[in-house]
Amino acid sequence: MARPTAVVNAPRKRSAHHRSAVTESMEDYLECIFDLESSKGYACVSDVAETLQLNRASTSIMVKRLGKLGFLRYEPYRGFALTPEGRRVAEKIRKRHALLADLFQLMGLGHRDHLSDIEGLEHHLSDRAFRRFGDLAAHLREHPLPRRGAARSK
Ligand code: CA
Repeated sequence: MARPTAVVNAPRKRSAHHRSAVTESMEDYLECIFDLESSKGYACVSDVAETLQLNRASTSIMVKRLGKLGFLRYEPYRGFALTPEGRRVAEKIRKRHALLADLFQLMGLGHRDHLSDIEGLEHHLSDRAFRRFGDLAAHLREHPLPRRGAARSK
């Protein structure tokens, strides 16, 4: 008689996100700093704290950490700015966010109503899945889904 497979002890496959040292929260910080930089040319702790609705103390700790990891550099008298590596991470998340918002819209799910889904998913897609999601969005643009609840033809 076959013994049941020990699923519980099987090592869990790590997501693309876990393979890198960048945490979800770091990615959100970098994304926020990217936006502030685009509008003001630089970012500072109070702006980041206000945008992310966090307190200044924890924002300041995270900013120092991101600086040590090489994602930020200090701009004397102004605040800080993304390094090319920080910009690369921020742009990756931005692109994922835009594609997911697009895909949700194409699936008939308003991106505003599903912002928390998108905000979470954007951190957990591998590059490969991201490319296929892009293909799916392109396909849905050509072949729109019937609206949910709409009468089916045939
Ligand atoms: Ca997010």
